[in-house]
Amino acid sequence: MLNVPSQSFPAPSSQQRVASGGRSKVPLKQGRSLMDWIRLTKSGKDLTGLRGRLIEVTEEELKKHNKKDDCWICIRGFVYNVSPYMEYHPGGEDELMRAAGSDGTDLFDQVHRWVNYESMLKECLVGRMAIKPAVPKDYREEKKVLNGLSHEIQEDFSVRVVENVGKIEIVLKKKENTSWKRLGHPLENHNLLIPKKDTGLYYRKCQLISKEGVTHDTKLFCLMLPPSTHLQVPVGQHVYLKLTITGTEIVKPYTPVCDFLLSEFKEPVLLNNKYIYFLIKIYPAGLFTPELDHLHIGDFVSVSNPEGNFKISQFRELEDLFLLAAGTGFTPMVKILNYALTNIPGLRKVKLMFFNKTEDDIIWRSQLEKLAFKDKRFDVEFVLSAPTSEWNGKRGYISPALLSQFLKRSLDNSRVLICICGPTPFTEQGIRLLHDLNFSKDEIHSFTA
Ligand code: FAD
Ligand code: NAD
Repeated sequence: MLNVPSQSFPAPSSQQRVASGGRSKVPLKQGRSLMDWIRLTKSGKDLTGLRGRLIEVTEEELKKHNKKDDCWICIRGFVYNVSPYMEYHPGGEDELMRAAGSDGTDLFDQVHRWVNYESMLKECLVGRMAIKPAVPKDYREEKKVLNGLSHEIQEDFSVRVVENVGKIEIVLKKKENTSWKRLGHPLENHNLLIPKKDTGLYYRKCQLISKEGVTHDTKLFCLMLPPSTHLQVPVGQHVYLKLTITGTEIVKPYTPVCDFLLSEFKEPVLLNNKYIYFLIKIYPAGLFTPELDHLHIGDFVSVSNPEGNFKISQFRELEDLFLLAAGTGFTPMVKILNYALTNIPGLRKVKLMFFNKTEDDIIWRSQLEKLAFKDKRFDVEFVLSAPTSEWNGKRGYISPALLSQFLKRSLDNSRVLICICGPTPFTEQGIRLLHDLNFSKDEIHSFTA
């Protein structure tokens, strides 16, 4: 049973307080958390007013349901009565009312494309639109047939992605060394370009291979991709993990890390592209992470395709890279560090300022210190907000004094990028301080939902 505390919700640090683009969410009333919504949907209460009947909805009919206590919204051709959900909507009632009595697909996609509305709102389903709007084909389900080639190929194939050019090279090997008369033909829905906005998130089921403690509350999860799957999450991007919790699909974003810091200590065990790693902090009273923590080796988790707005081009001609990370806000910095130190020729300096509560909370501390020792361009500073009296490093929260000391360019006019990620108040405060220190918008990248 999930034990969700009842004080102010969402908690100040909860992701449920932040929407896409860093939009703040409204505080929800007592008893209106996501878990409370799940409970209501399981209570057997008639949430549509149609006693389980599904109807065909005309545009005229849809338009009539445009009030708070009678509000229907169409998403991808399906109509939902969202009135019962109003008070549970983390973005607030007014935000939901923007789509009242109309097709809210575009609005929904702009704000939170990744939210698993089908599962969350299944008890609110009124029916389908009578005249179906263009519904994008469902690309989300795992396809059994893997290719439309005329002959068999080996299961192993290689994919090379040149991120900064956008080139993808796929090398398939024939199973039998014979000459092929024809290549085959593309499968349905293949060999075409679909605008990203028209596709739902595609999930594949990945198997939990290992789960190792990294700190007292953070674990490194290794997931194995299904056979013949290639998933390369670009630097700075995240994926969504999906689990079914008490019958409802719950989705949360996580940023995969690479094992370059780990391989300092271990032989590179799982080198090929079959595995994906996550550093995840377990919140005992959280909704998703305790479920993740309870998974056994061999269990499955659904993993989406990547999303995010960080672009590798932001590294172009970069000379100084400053990383400001707090807690698990360190996760995007792992791949950034690896990429920067290996792929940016003119890079002079990479500095990480890593904010945590206590020494025990610091993720991969010795690995980072070892990297700083090995690579003279890299430097790391730890700042603790709740240290013990023995700590003789830096203390406190993000502040003008800490930043102005830390953010020293290697040359007066060197090209700089500052990446910042952590709890929302940390990131918001950091951005304000960086602007006060005269760093321009182009010199700052903040990671938000
Ligand atoms: P939540 O249910 O969201 O709870 C979070 C906190 O709120 C906990 O402290 C919990 O105790 C408290 N809380 C919950 N319910 C209540 C209540 N009713 N009253 C009071 N307090 C309550 N995290 C990682 O660990 N690793 C990553 O790589 C990572 N990448 C991310 C990438 C992105 C783009 C974003 C936006 C977030 C990322 N996160 C990452 C955070 C992650 O998505 C989740 O927010 C986090 O794992 C918490 O999820 P949860 O459901 O377990 O906790
Ligand atoms: P935490 O509670 O352990 O705090 C770590 C440090 O953050 C603190 O020591 C402090 O220095 C700073 N901090 C915390 N609250 C602050 C406040 N109100 N004002 C100023 N500074 C503050 O952190 P955590 O539990 O590891 O949380 C990490 C956060 O990072 C989560 O909210 C998670 O969603 C977010 N995250 C975001 C992404 C992304 O890409 N957007 C990726 C990973 C993690």
